[in-house]
Amino acid sequence: MQAVPGEFLEIDRKNRANQPFNDLTLRPASERVCDFEDVVIEFDETRAKVEAARCIHCPDPAPCMVACPTHNDIPSAMWLIERGDYKGASAIYHQTSSLPEICGRVCPHEQLCQGSCVLNKDHEPVLTGQLEVFALEWERENNPYKVTKEKTSKHKVAVVGAGPAGMACAHVLLQKGHEVTVFESKPAPGGLMVYGIPNFKLPKTAVFEKWQDLLDAGVKFQGNTYIGRDKTVDGLFAEGYSAVFLGVGTGIDAKMEIPGEDLPGVYEATDFLIRGNVEDHNLPADKKEKPLLGNKVAVIGGGDTASDCLRTALRLGSEEVICLYRRTENEMPGGKKDRQMAKDEGAQYRFLTQPVQFLAGEDGRLAAVECIEMKLGEPDAKGRRKPVPVEGSNFSIAIDSAIKALGYWPDPILGKTTPNLDVHDWGLITVSDRQSFKTTRPGVFAGGDDVTGPDLVVTAMVAGRKAALAINNYLDNL
Ligand SMILES: Cc1cc2nc3c(=O)[nH]c(=O)nc-3n(C[C@H](O)[C@H](O)[C@H](O)COP(=O)(O)OP(=O)(O)OC[C@H]3O[C@@H](n4cnc5c(N)ncnc54)[C@H](O)[C@@H]3O)c2cc1C
Repeated sequence: MQAVPGEFLEIDRKNRANQPFNDLTLRPASERVCDFEDVVIEFDETRAKVEAARCIHCPDPAPCMVACPTHNDIPSAMWLIERGDYKGASAIYHQTSSLPEICGRVCPHEQLCQGSCVLNKDHEPVLTGQLEVFALEWERENNPYKVTKEKTSKHKVAVVGAGPAGMACAHVLLQKGHEVTVFESKPAPGGLMVYGIPNFKLPKTAVFEKWQDLLDAGVKFQGNTYIGRDKTVDGLFAEGYSAVFLGVGTGIDAKMEIPGEDLPGVYEATDFLIRGNVEDHNLPADKKEKPLLGNKVAVIGGGDTASDCLRTALRLGSEEVICLYRRTENEMPGGKKDRQMAKDEGAQYRFLTQPVQFLAGEDGRLAAVECIEMKLGEPDAKGRRKPVPVEGSNFSIAIDSAIKALGYWPDPILGKTTPNLDVHDWGLITVSDRQSFKTTRPGVFAGGDDVTGPDLVVTAMVAGRKAALAINNYLDNL
């Protein structure tokens, strides 16, 4: 559906580009650091219409559509928002996305749609992410979306993992009329959207409301069920499922392999974020205890997870929160936007610093981290300059807690317990290609982080949708 009229003129484009720009409104740092509520103040109708009217409606193919991993027809949505047709704009997003209200909040827009907006050349990009949130929130409040079914099917499909890949796969399978049961190891659905990304970036209500849409459409849920341990993939086929989708992500935190890593007071990022951010009734039984941080906290790593940990530690009341990163700020993989918010909220940074051991105090708890200074050496295979230790530069920082935010690995359990399911690189699932998402085991499909390694909500969601279409095709031919 192309909603934008064809006769768009160059003069209109110039006028639109020259409209004044107002950036996102954030709650003041001193206020937001005291709670876990959303930091962004959502658009009202007036603000949304003015912002959408800045879109200059590039000729096809619009760069924002190309850059969006799910290829949302953003120009058409902008046109409809500008004209006050918010339901129509939401319908545009539903055509290509299963989680638009979530991607509108957590996508790295500055690298995707907004990053490719042609207005970047001389102006500021259209705030397409926040406009997506606006349209979807309007729809939920005024005229809620319902999953509609194209046909009825006799097939049952098991979806393993309730993250963005699993939720999107379940959504499209429901649309295709299949009976879907989602098996999830945690008590609640959402994957890292609930058990990872903090509430101040993505309010969990947005995920649970989306999940309710799927429940209303008939999806069944079995929480606290670890496939590979409580049941096997073979067992699911024996229960009568005709196909299985594996969207189990990469849930194992990377280790530093340095002395003192297991001391009390040293946390893994996921464990810390779950204990720190998730409401009590959704916490797994072994994670009910809140983190005991103390006043001085070191977060180790340079990605978005590190920013999330810094900001969570500040919200939990720690006074001095410092990020230790072994390269310089230029090489940091995490987004600038999140890092700036962390800085505004009080996080400190120490670059070219590599922890070499965690040291215990007399009580046996973590008391300090010994580090070595680094300098940048030759570029590695990816072109990033390698950090090299400066000999004899060791020093210690007194800390009460440390949080390791270093990256994630897959859990190898499914490869070990599923005959003929090929895995590689410590457990990533091998698929035939990124269109069909077929694994080496007939009837078993996989997509999301468990295939690509850690990536994004939007890429996992796209994989789940594509895999669902491939599963539907497979079932039609059974
Ligand atoms: C702290 C943090 C912050 C992030 N911030 C962002 C962000 O701002 N924007 C963004 O786009 N991306 C972000 N990401 C990345 C994003 O969350 C992931 O790329 C995305 O969630 C991957 O989706 P998935 O469905 O493949 O896996 P997951 O979200 O990991 O979901 C997998 C699900 O499978 C379950 N599971 C695992 N094994 C089993 C099993 N054997 N049986 C049953 N269930 C199982 C898990 O409990 C989990 O619920 C962040 C990640 C982290 C860790």
